[in-house]
Amino acid sequence: MKAMVLNGICSLKENRKPLEMVELPDPVPGDGEILVKVLACGVCHTELDEIEGRTPPPKFPVVLGHQVVGRVERMGSKTGKFQIGDRVGIGWIYSACGLCKPCIKGNENLCENFKATGRDADGGYAEYTVVSEEFAYKIPDIFSDSEAAPLLCAGAIGYRSLRLTSIKDGQNLGLTGFGASAHLVIKMARYQYPSSKVFVFARSEEERNFAKELGAVWAGDTEEEPPEKLDCIIDTTPVWKPIAEALRNLERGGRLVINAIRKEEVDKESLLHLDYSTHLWLEKEIKSVANVTRRDVSEFLDLAAKIPIRPEFQEFPLEEANKALLELKGRKIRGAKVLRIGF
Ligand SMILES: [Zn+2]
Ligand SMILES: [Zn+2]
Repeated sequence: MKAMVLNGICSLKENRKPLEMVELPDPVPGDGEILVKVLACGVCHTELDEIEGRTPPPKFPVVLGHQVVGRVERMGSKTGKFQIGDRVGIGWIYSACGLCKPCIKGNENLCENFKATGRDADGGYAEYTVVSEEFAYKIPDIFSDSEAAPLLCAGAIGYRSLRLTSIKDGQNLGLTGFGASAHLVIKMARYQYPSSKVFVFARSEEERNFAKELGAVWAGDTEEEPPEKLDCIIDTTPVWKPIAEALRNLERGGRLVINAIRKEEVDKESLLHLDYSTHLWLEKEIKSVANVTRRDVSEFLDLAAKIPIRPEFQEFPLEEANKALLELKGRKIRGAKVLRIGF
């Protein structure tokens, strides 16, 4: 099969083609696993973190990609959840042990042996991939392949982030950063919490206008002060300055949820300007989001079909994965980037 592989950690500033197109043997499904013919795979900021070593894959070469939509092509033994030809999705959670303390409590996202698709196991930047059927989801028919792909990561983790804010209808929600995840969160928030006002912080004018089109009552630059304090804020930026700004804008007792797998070091000194009374006092909370559970992915797919949420997307052929990644790095974002494969 054709696959775009990462052969090692590198800097995207120096290496503009971090992924290489190669021919690999087709993967073979083992016990409980299905072989999936990939149709579409979303391009996520986490791939940049993997390439640049902030969340490094344990072995190389590796096939990246954890927002995979495809059809069941073959089944290993001890399977039965799907039929050949079913359209399925695979998200960031590739497997969890099911036995450790977090797993037993239903927090498989915190599993000590959590394995991520496209990092700890080969993912969807390829014509085929293999996964345990227990970690694959039926894709609702109303979505096209490219619409469904971004739902599997940006959507599912956005759903988890929104859940972790503990927002109640009528409370003010802030979103700092307005990429693929946030543009899905605003749609969920407007459906689930119709009386809540959404405030968006984004660096580019284009993103701010897009936020208003999607129903934000206010959109400003990261440093701007919104007209009202915010009960909860979800941060999806890769940097630190928005964290300090968000804490300043929180209502007393408010919660900041950080949805980022790693933060870049470039502006870490912004944290030195944290002032206890302005940024932290009055019981402000900070919580990070780690990974997703299967429950997040499947509940979110159902919710997305009901609303319905149809992500804006931009398609690239598999061989242009490097281009899609560089555009993401350069923050040329309007909707989600999706690789279209094998159709
Ligand atoms: Zn992702
Ligand atoms: Zn576990």
